[in-house]
Amino acid sequence: MQPPSSATHTGFTVCPGCDLLLEQIRAAADHTAVCPRCGSRLYRARRDSVSKALALSLTGLLLYLPANFMTLLNFDVLGTPSSASIFSSSLSMFAQGQVIVGAVVVLTGLVFPLLTLLLLFAVSLGLYREWQRPWMPVLLRRYHHLTEWAMQDVYLIGVFVTIIKMSHTAAIEPGVGLYCFVGLVLVTIAAQSVIDYPLFWSRMNQGWEPPLPPPGAETAMEAGLMVCHTCRMVVAAGDGRKPRTCPRCGGRIHFRRHDSISRTWALVITAIIFTFPANLLPIMEVEYLGVPDRNTIMDGIIYFFHEGSYGIGAIILIASILVPLFKIVGMLLILLSIHFRRQGWLRHKSLMFRFIQFIGRWSMLDIFVIALLCALVRFGYLSTVNAAPAAFYFTGVVLSTMFSAINFDPRLLWDAAAMPVSRETSYATASSS
Ligand SMILES: [Zn+2]
Ligand SMILES: [Zn+2]
Repeated sequence: MQPPSSATHTGFTVCPGCDLLLEQIRAAADHTAVCPRCGSRLYRARRDSVSKALALSLTGLLLYLPANFMTLLNFDVLGTPSSASIFSSSLSMFAQGQVIVGAVVVLTGLVFPLLTLLLLFAVSLGLYREWQRPWMPVLLRRYHHLTEWAMQDVYLIGVFVTIIKMSHTAAIEPGVGLYCFVGLVLVTIAAQSVIDYPLFWSRMNQGWEPPLPPPGAETAMEAGLMVCHTCRMVVAAGDGRKPRTCPRCGGRIHFRRHDSISRTWALVITAIIFTFPANLLPIMEVEYLGVPDRNTIMDGIIYFFHEGSYGIGAIILIASILVPLFKIVGMLLILLSIHFRRQGWLRHKSLMFRFIQFIGRWSMLDIFVIALLCALVRFGYLSTVNAAPAAFYFTGVVLSTMFSAINFDPRLLWDAAAMPVSRETSYATASSS
């Protein structure tokens, strides 16, 4: 596709997904540039990115305290009231003796969402005031890596699942915290989507000029160039081609991620081993009138389908069973295809890898639902909900599959096969990509 007429050439860039050298074109606002070989998104141009990111991160920070500490839901069972906030729900796993699961819930549900807002606020304020401070690229790198782990959006879906799950047995009233939490999640998603990363990074260049690739080279590796995984800065590899530190953001730069294949294999095998206890052992224990009833993940899904809540049943089936399964099978296919140097379907395998990266965090849904239920259903002898052993193994599956995608270097797929190259950058409008 032809680039839009308002696009301007600004040197060259390297595709993070397949290492292809490309002309860098600054596209018109709301256009997305896509790698013609692997389909990875190179960048998306945004209007008024800095001021919007500043305003949205500030709004998020103002909403953070009421959203997390004020009452989320009020429950009433036979005249016995109970209530919970995001904060008390996040701590509920510790009371059950589930220290590791509790730590993951507190980090992904409370700590990382706050950190991402603080980091984005500091960086966008610095850019807005046109500062050139050495901490700005470091904070933007931290923000870039933390967004995947800040899971308040998954938590919010967990809140809705909990409401529907409990609506049959208790009178539920939403608290002020719920409205603030919905606002916080929407503002955070909006803040992430307005960031124009190439623009942010280019404002922190500090006089750096990229080295020019030699004519005829197709990939950065062939040209003796290395690209930063985070800020996409291109540097000359120099002698020994050893990993270096990025002069702009301070991240590690390598030709290919060190030990990527063996680490990914180890993490995928760990996920497979954890999958069995995660699905066979009970994940939640519901005590009603002193009689304990232990449920596996599958029991929970069957319960929703029996109750006629097909939508919620389908959401949990997808998040807790299908997503982890897809991630494991997908990563295995990619690893085997590299091992046997398969050359077909490379673009599809790249797309599948990007999808695995995208869906990774959504499997945490069931863990957030259990945390909410543990905090809310505290009616003494009448009824209580406790986390059961599978919660630990299930969290293990989510973490190991997420880390396997983080450790995998998608450029290795393309190294295994020499493909014909088209050098024209593809264009798509933001709405269609
Ligand atoms: Zn590419
Ligand atoms: Zn960098």
